[in-house]
Amino acid sequence: MGGHGPAPRIIFRQFPHNALNQRELLRLADQCVKCGLCLPHCPTFRLCHNEADSPRGRIALIQGLTTGQLDDTARLGAHLDGCLQCQACELACPSLVRFGTLMDAARAARVAKLPRWRRWWRRLRLDVLSGTRLPPLLGPLAAAYRRLGVGAVVRRAGLLRWPRLRVLHGLALRLRRGMALQAPQTTAADTDAAPAPLALFRGCVARTLEPEVMRSALAVFRQLGVPVEVPQGQGCCGAMHRHNGFPDRADTLLARNRAVFAGTSVVGGASACVAELRPALTAIELCRAVLQAPWPAALALHPLTGTVAVHEPCSHRNQLRDTTAVYELLGRIPGLRVVPLPGNAMCCGAAGTYLLDQPQTALALAADKVAVLRQLAPRWLVTTNTGCAAHLGAAAHAAGLELEVLHPVVLLARALAPRT
Ligand code: SF4
Ligand code: SF4
Repeated sequence: MGGHGPAPRIIFRQFPHNALNQRELLRLADQCVKCGLCLPHCPTFRLCHNEADSPRGRIALIQGLTTGQLDDTARLGAHLDGCLQCQACELACPSLVRFGTLMDAARAARVAKLPRWRRWWRRLRLDVLSGTRLPPLLGPLAAAYRRLGVGAVVRRAGLLRWPRLRVLHGLALRLRRGMALQAPQTTAADTDAAPAPLALFRGCVARTLEPEVMRSALAVFRQLGVPVEVPQGQGCCGAMHRHNGFPDRADTLLARNRAVFAGTSVVGGASACVAELRPALTAIELCRAVLQAPWPAALALHPLTGTVAVHEPCSHRNQLRDTTAVYELLGRIPGLRVVPLPGNAMCCGAAGTYLLDQPQTALALAADKVAVLRQLAPRWLVTTNTGCAAHLGAAAHAAGLELEVLHPVVLLARALAPRT
């Protein structure tokens, strides 16, 4: 049986965080009455119909682990690690069980018990992914992969039968080189002296994978006459660390951003970052911020003809719970047919680092999205989250679908761009 050991420090998604002991974690878990109403909403349960891969089953496993009735075996760990942290179950739960908090806490407790070298390795991987050095290299690396024909060699050698390679291959075919952002820059000191009404949050991976989102946001706010700034010194929001068992590091990253953005309203283009920043800062999702801004009466939008399907990322739908802003915003573009992507309640499989860690499930979930996209045949697919855009873009490309995957505000910027 599993030993009790020292009580793990459990971190709530609040700032400053609250440390929870095992008893408090159990109290949260015990709020689950095992009714099972969340099961049909769980993407992993829908795929494999295994109770241990459902919210209710995972809560039972966390209870067993926390009380010491269960050992932390590889099999048990696979069921917990298989959770996407999409929080669809939290939205469906009539008992208001805080599943996201529970899973974050359980992962933190499990990571705390790992041997030091394994903790170090996991933490290093997250630090590199969310740091400033690797993300700018991703575009050039992907370009080299394409230019040198490595992808064709990989395909011919049959290596794409391995899900992880298939995910990486798909991302490499889609990634473009990021471009520098021409934006008014402020430092934390400047911000203190003259707080900007709105300050853009660039994210870590997002600034490389989707640089056009921030460029479009700046262009749109310029047309609306709304001053925005891009403070220097900002960094990763910490979500990757929090959901992978490193809440202390996540809180450190959050604290740094809190200092940088003090006195401003933070506007984030990636819904997962906004959800992470929100407990610590006044953070607004970009579509909502554009919608809230005063629109000049003379502002004219050019028509865009075609259908745009709206993908609702879990962070937007289940955490921010405000996806209507996307539809309202796009609804202002003449000629555009705006439709929700059928099956929006189910995660696409990107889920932060999930697509790298659990590629098989990630690909299976993306395949469902590709199937409905094939039927709908939209010209554009919009999504407010960077990981979802990369994952769905790669899946659509691999399936030969002709559509563009982009952020809603990029589409809006096109409709607002002066025509020559
Ligand atoms: S998490 Fe909520 S919906 Fe799911 S079994 Fe427990 S109480 Fe029921
Ligand atoms: S967070 Fe998502 S994947 Fe995890 S148990 Fe809940 S519904 Fe299932």
